[in-house]
Amino acid sequence: MSRAFNFSAGPANLPTPVLEQVKAELLDWHGSGMSVMEMSHRGKEFKSIAEQAESDLRDLLNIPSTYKVLFLQGGASCQFAMVPINLLRGNNEADYFNTGQWSKKAIAEARKYGEVNLPVNSESNNFTNVSESKHWTLNPNAAYVHYTPNETINGLEFLTIPDVGDKILVADMSSTILSRPLDVSKYGLIYAGAQKNIGPAGLTIVIIREDLADGAMPNMPSMLSYKTHIDSGSMSNTPPTLAWYIAGLVFKWLKEFGGLAKMGERNQRKAKKLYAAIDQSEFYNNPVDPAYRSWMNIPFTLSNSDLDKSFQAEAKVAGLLTLGGHRTVGGLRASIYNAMPEEGVQALIDFMNDFAKRKG
Ligand SMILES: *Cc1c(COP(=O)(O)O)cnc(C)c1O
Repeated sequence: MSRAFNFSAGPANLPTPVLEQVKAELLDWHGSGMSVMEMSHRGKEFKSIAEQAESDLRDLLNIPSTYKVLFLQGGASCQFAMVPINLLRGNNEADYFNTGQWSKKAIAEARKYGEVNLPVNSESNNFTNVSESKHWTLNPNAAYVHYTPNETINGLEFLTIPDVGDKILVADMSSTILSRPLDVSKYGLIYAGAQKNIGPAGLTIVIIREDLADGAMPNMPSMLSYKTHIDSGSMSNTPPTLAWYIAGLVFKWLKEFGGLAKMGERNQRKAKKLYAAIDQSEFYNNPVDPAYRSWMNIPFTLSNSDLDKSFQAEAKVAGLLTLGGHRTVGGLRASIYNAMPEEGVQALIDFMNDFAKRKG
């Protein structure tokens, strides 16, 4: 068996030691005689798995006790609706930063529930930059400000937390959570689909300041109310038990690695190296303003786009998988989440240099 370097944007690669542990425990979890997949979510075995995962996530992100952590289904896409349904709280207006394709989806969903103002709109620069904060037109009446810290498709990332004064800040962190230390206390709510940087698909993590969870619009499905999930410990119905368990193993792996400060340094090194290789070459290009370049998802183009397919085919032979750009934008993209080792990025750079030499 050989594991290739997988640059998929999501579902993405998982740390090999985590998958090995899953394999070792698959048929008989800790002497229980059962696989985690076969356990009651209300039994003592799964309860211990669930509590340990939450406690390790709280440690990693230093989550204040005034915040609840929820383990939900429905993906980040379901949060696009749950956020306005719960956080408008009698108000009709919200601010959304429009910085890429995921922002746009969140905005379209929020517009079903209220008026959305766009204090930041990067549409005009094709999502390669963000206007200076002095030009942001924040709406004083907005119930909250939503942004997408890392645009997975466009490769645009906020490397610092935007200053929105005393407004409640909400973030779709699907593709950047756990990539570096984070000050959770700056946020009202954080959500993330698991399949990028947390674990397998099927799990969505929500971190919510508890005092914000009480105001869901009336007559909405109770499954779309944060209160429902807080009151039931994310067990109002059957949670995604296997994904929750594997996410817990990833949290342990991150702690053993040395935590988020150390992981953040490694992620920065990986990204820096790859951008340097792109910038030093005439053959490759990344259009994003260097101040907003993502550490996690690095889209790039070849000077001759006719070569995109052969680039991917040859990369695959070299053990470098899933380098195609998103189907809506084309080109190429390397997603280098926590689980991608530095050797994987180096192997990609070596391949890119060689390919450019032969075809450039
Ligand atoms: C992948 C992704 C989503 C969509 O996640 P689903 O879990 O498929 O709903 C939303 N936002 C961002 C930033 C993403 O990367």
